[in-house]
Amino acid sequence: MTQSFQNKIAVITGASSGIGLGIAQELSALGATVIITGRNKNKLELAVSTLGPNACQFQVDVSNLTELNTFYEQIRSRFGRIDILIANAGMGEIEPLGQITPEKFDLQFTTNVRGITFTVQKALPLMKPGSSIVITGSTASINPGEGLSVYGGTKAALRAMVRSWILDIKGAGIRINILSPGPVDTQSLRDFLPEPVDAILQSLRDRSPLGRIGRTEEIAKAVVFLSSDAAAYINGAEIFADGGASQI
Ligand code: NAD
Repeated sequence: MTQSFQNKIAVITGASSGIGLGIAQELSALGATVIITGRNKNKLELAVSTLGPNACQFQVDVSNLTELNTFYEQIRSRFGRIDILIANAGMGEIEPLGQITPEKFDLQFTTNVRGITFTVQKALPLMKPGSSIVITGSTASINPGEGLSVYGGTKAALRAMVRSWILDIKGAGIRINILSPGPVDTQSLRDFLPEPVDAILQSLRDRSPLGRIGRTEEIAKAVVFLSSDAAAYINGAEIFADGGASQI
C-alpha cells in the first residue's frame, strides 16, 4: 500500500507483542504517529524501540476503567485527537464444555468484550469524521471449533455489537470494522495450543486452502487497509484474513 499515514495519530492496544506489534510496525513505517498500549512495562519499552521516532507507549490494562480514563486524558492533552484506533488487546483459553471455569469465562469476556467496548466508547470523543476503528476479532466468531466456545463467544459478541454501534454513531463519520484472523504464527498461539503443538500447527496448515497459517505482517496489512481512506466505504464489516479456512 502506498498510502501515507503522515499526520495520522494511531492508538493500538495490546501492541507489545504479536499481531498488535505487527500493526504498529506497519503503521509506523507508513508515517503514522503510533501510540502502543499493553500491561507489561518492560515488554512495551522493548516493543516501542522497534518502532520509528514517532512512537510512544502507555501502560494500560483495558479491563481497568480508571486506567483507560487516565490514558485517554493523556492522549487528549498530548495529541488532541485519535485518527485510527486499533482495539486489538485480547486473549483466549481452551475450555471444553464440562471444564469451563467462572474465572476464565470472566477473564475472556472482561478482556475481549468489556475491554474492547470501553476502549472504543472512551475513544469516540477524541475521534473526528474520517476517523476509523478496527477491532481484532477471530475466525472463532463463526467457527470456534472444540474447546473454544467461550473465546468464540467473545468474538461473536463483538461482531454483533459492531452492527449496533455503527447505527448508534450514525452521522459521526467514524467507521468501525472487525478484522478476524485465522491462526497466526505468534508466540501466544504456540503457548495457547495444547501438546503436541507442532502436530496441531500442521493440522491447521492442512486445513487451510493456502496450506499454511498466517503471518503477523499479513494481518497488519489487512488492518492497515481497513483503517485507511482506501476502505472509506467499508463499515460494520467483519473481514476474514485466514487463507480461506473459515469460508469452506
Ligand atoms: P498476543 O498475546 O501477542 O497479543 C495480545 C496482546 O493483548 C498482548 O500484548 C497482551 O498482553 C494484551 N492484553 C491481553 N489482555 C490485556 C488487558 N487486559 N489489557 C491490556 N492488554 C491486554 O497475541 P496475538 O496472537 O497477537 O493476539 C492479538 C489479538 O489477535 C487478540 O485479540 C487475539 O484474540 C487475536 N487473534 C489471534 C490469533 C492468533 O492465531 N494469534 C488468531 C485470531 C485472533
